[in-house]
Amino acid sequence: MEKHEMELPSYIVIGSNLVDVIIERLRRHGFKYCIMITSKTPYRFYGSKIIERAEKAVVFSVWDINEAPDELDRFVGEARAADVVLGVGGGRVVDISKVIAELSGKPFFSIPTIASHDGIASPMTSYRRDGRAYSRKSVMPSEIFADMDVISIAPRRYLLSGCGDLVAKKSAVRDWWLAHKLTGEYYGRYAAHLAYLSASVVIKSRKLIANNSLEGIRTVVEALISAGVAMGVAGSSRPCSGSEHLIAHALETLSEKPALHGERCGVATIFTLYLHRGNWRKIKNSLAAMGAPHRIEHINTDTDLFVEAVKKAPEIRPDRLTILHKMNLTRSEIVNILETTSLA
Ligand SMILES: [Zn+2]
Repeated sequence: MEKHEMELPSYIVIGSNLVDVIIERLRRHGFKYCIMITSKTPYRFYGSKIIERAEKAVVFSVWDINEAPDELDRFVGEARAADVVLGVGGGRVVDISKVIAELSGKPFFSIPTIASHDGIASPMTSYRRDGRAYSRKSVMPSEIFADMDVISIAPRRYLLSGCGDLVAKKSAVRDWWLAHKLTGEYYGRYAAHLAYLSASVVIKSRKLIANNSLEGIRTVVEALISAGVAMGVAGSSRPCSGSEHLIAHALETLSEKPALHGERCGVATIFTLYLHRGNWRKIKNSLAAMGAPHRIEHINTDTDLFVEAVKKAPEIRPDRLTILHKMNLTRSEIVNILETTSLA
């Protein structure tokens, strides 16, 4: 049997009032110099509080990625002299923090302020180069602090995007299984079940999520972390990212105003689950019940754009087989499915 490595976070905390917990963890590790990657709003609502509360015991070097977008090299250099990299913010902040931690060889603490996708707890990072979207394995956060005080007051759209990213696992796991059957690619039963479970839980909790109850929000956060852990167990993004993610990535590069990652994934899942002969109706009804996007018009997309994205999707990862690679759909087939599923 081939060797299989799993990278997992060593400490995860979800709850209220976690600023003091973060300070205590820094103290316990003896971390005195931190690189904080953040952006304006997360810094105002959370990053600044960490710095205030730490007083003079810890020195922070703060990078606002929107204010000074070209500082990556400088902060990789600074991180080499620091003890830890803290990512305080949303998806891009967390992605960039992972890369800095990876290049500097320092541990990474993930401190998400929104629950918009599973990158908050995964080793994957996505980025764009030359108009194309890529994703690759970087480092797993060593510690994760999900403070409900800040996540629960974020705009609801982010949470619903997180739900879209979670229902996507229903399709991703089927693509993984298909690839395993057709190519003999490694398939981790445990990781697959874990990812699948994160989708099932969020679908079962749709009423709690629709009501914006704290319990519902917390369930989404836990499921996102669990999905990230599934990737750590799998050693790749396979259990969480399949054909639906390829369509979502294609839409990102083709759209003038792309919707959020999870919003695109949720809508694309209805389409790819139809191809897999899965229960796409349940996904569509659940997303609708939560108030999440469930038609292509909800993600700034029309039929032509969606057709183009489905056709382009297999080229994004030619090495990673999904149902789209196998079926090679024609325009009329895609249009028919959009009509059958009432996506368009
Ligand atoms: Zn995703």
